[in-house]
Amino acid sequence: MSVDLDVLVPDAERLASRLDELAAFHDSTLPGWSREVFSEPYRASRDWIRKQMADAGLAPVTDAAGNIVGRLPGRRHGAPALVTGSHTDTVRQGGRYDGIVGVLTGIEVAQRLRETGTRLEHDLVVIDFLGEEANEFGISCMGSRAVAGVLRPEHLDRVDSTGLRLGDAMAAFGLDPQGALRQAWSPVDMHAYVELHVEQGPLLERSGTGIGVVTAIAGIDRLLVHFAGRSGHAGTTPMTDRHDALVSAAAAVLTVERVGCGAPVHGVATPGCIESTPQSMGVITNQARLWSEIRSVDASWLHGARKQIVHEITEETRNRGVEINVEWLTDQAPVPTTGLVQDVVAESADGLGLSWQAVPSGAGHDAAHLARLGPMGMIFVPSEGGRSHCPEEFTATSHIAQGAHVLASTLITLDRREGLRSA
Ligand SMILES: [Zn+2]
Repeated sequence: MSVDLDVLVPDAERLASRLDELAAFHDSTLPGWSREVFSEPYRASRDWIRKQMADAGLAPVTDAAGNIVGRLPGRRHGAPALVTGSHTDTVRQGGRYDGIVGVLTGIEVAQRLRETGTRLEHDLVVIDFLGEEANEFGISCMGSRAVAGVLRPEHLDRVDSTGLRLGDAMAAFGLDPQGALRQAWSPVDMHAYVELHVEQGPLLERSGTGIGVVTAIAGIDRLLVHFAGRSGHAGTTPMTDRHDALVSAAAAVLTVERVGCGAPVHGVATPGCIESTPQSMGVITNQARLWSEIRSVDASWLHGARKQIVHEITEETRNRGVEINVEWLTDQAPVPTTGLVQDVVAESADGLGLSWQAVPSGAGHDAAHLARLGPMGMIFVPSEGGRSHCPEEFTATSHIAQGAHVLASTLITLDRREGLRSA
């Protein structure tokens, strides 16, 4: 092989100091690290990201959708690009690693290539995607959706709790919402996409494994169930004559949890919230609404679980003489990663003497959208205690550096492979 992987050992100290510098951009009035999309800390941090990309030789540009796109030119002018990246926004009171390590390791790989005079065949593109985390507008992965061509005009009309339109929020942030709708890449623009991310779960740490080869990104089905019962006096209505909407909703919570966690590989069920009326101690509840979600990497299992949940809660609810109406709010299919990219990640870890393990991703990622454009893979590094989306989120620099080395090796190997799409 023409590239010496040893010279591409990432600079762990530089990675660690960039992690610290980026973490300094956060809302200091809140505990933990908050850098939510469109916030002032986020705005300030993105100037810093552009500066890091420029220092690494990536000549960053910000597209209409707010993605910061850095490009290290390859030998073959006009060839499809090798793409890596992630996001640097956080949830409110989140951590310092989710998304961030994918952007900073992408920059580090580019910088090592440049410093060592290593030229790839394809351009290496590193992207900091706009607003990956769920937000008040109810749309995650805004930037990667735009690149994948699935950001829609109706998304721009969504409003937050203050009535602000997403399109107006984007414009106020200096972006071009109409242009964002035309930001889509063509599949011929992308050779492959590889994203490094913290696992956000406990599997790697528990098995003492440094590298996760991601097999699939879980699909998410969210449901809203309406229960309509009959109110009455809590003291005088016999138990046999009750049509209690809240009790039906409570039974449904347990059904969702029991059915939703039965997937063979990865299945999780989360009853998120119940609203009921009247909220009174002396009155039987006549209306309740339950929001829940189930996730799995197995599409056919998800399909079956949806049917099973509706069947069981409908029967249970009708037995109580309560009317039920079930609405599916989201139906996001699981996205498998590309087998060939999985193989290259695993071989790269082997080649560097690092242990690896195949793992599913229970969380959504920008990679799920990039998969529309071509071959896609993900590399996970361990999360201490499996914690994420909280201030305690932590991944050791040594694990991040190992992940960056596997990312470099994976990108170099993919760079030399042609016809990835047909493989
Ligand atoms: Zn993330």
